[in-house]
Amino acid sequence: MHRWLAAISAAAMLWIAAGAASAAEQEEAMYEKRMELYKKAEAVSLIPWYYFAAIDQYERNVRQVRRDLPKPAGVLGIYMKPEIWAGPLNKNPHDTDPFTISQFGGLGVDGDGDGYARADDDDDVIMAMARYLQTYGIDHRHIKIALWNYYQRAKTVDLILGKARIYKKYQTLKLDNHVFPLPLGANYSYRDTWGDARGWGGRRIHEGTDIFAGYGVPVRSTCYGIVELKGWNKYGGWRIGIRDINNTYHYFAHLNGFAADLREGQIVEPGTIIGSVGSSGYGPPGTAGKFPPHLHYGMYKDNGYTEWAFDPYPHLKAWERAERQQRRR
Ligand SMILES: [Zn+2]
Repeated sequence: MHRWLAAISAAAMLWIAAGAASAAEQEEAMYEKRMELYKKAEAVSLIPWYYFAAIDQYERNVRQVRRDLPKPAGVLGIYMKPEIWAGPLNKNPHDTDPFTISQFGGLGVDGDGDGYARADDDDDVIMAMARYLQTYGIDHRHIKIALWNYYQRAKTVDLILGKARIYKKYQTLKLDNHVFPLPLGANYSYRDTWGDARGWGGRRIHEGTDIFAGYGVPVRSTCYGIVELKGWNKYGGWRIGIRDINNTYHYFAHLNGFAADLREGQIVEPGTIIGSVGSSGYGPPGTAGKFPPHLHYGMYKDNGYTEWAFDPYPHLKAWERAERQQRRR
């Protein structure tokens, strides 16, 4: 390599490393700021911080995949519509006066004592949510009722309460780590089969990636999440669905069997063994061997209304690469 080229590439590497470090620092600062807000809401309302974290994370996920909602201005994802914030009969939907807002039954409050109740001010938003929940009660059962009245969708309430359990267990907001579904030391192969006309996944088009490996190779959870589904499906065979904190649903099909103590509702983490590779499916419970053994891996997203599939292949590649790099260190 020419000397100048080497110099340029060294400079580029330094620049990339510096950029990466500051991005990680920024992320760290953001997590800290969020936790500060949740803890503040907890101190005032006596509702545990992880409920606020779960509501906030749910709404952040929804906002990321919806074009009809504005992007967050601060570190919180919670969005209250103007008519909810200011009150349904308030002629000024962008009212910031805490007194008139409360007169009109709006949820908006002044959380930081600056005299204004602003729907884009994190302190005001988290306190508005805290006050709203508090009107129902501060125990799990009443929080659940409050959430149901607020979102009017059972699925949303389940998703939020699931996240709350995960945050409670790990006592941190940093739960984004992922691993490849099979141990990297195992013999396996896969390619991008997204949208293929044929596939052993049970859909019209192939919604997932098939990872071919021998019978009995362990299958691991790829994320922090909750086992939402475990059982038999005509096409998927023995299959497992895991919901992570980003509302992503990870689907593992054609398993040979399940890990011994695995149950629905269980919290898992990246690397938790959930079952093993098989060829189950395409018939009544127990049917196997109609195709070569492989793991069908699918990913689905939720936007507050519906679920849809997206291509897991780039994610699998990224997790595999990251895990290999981590091992080398
Ligand atoms: Zn498949």
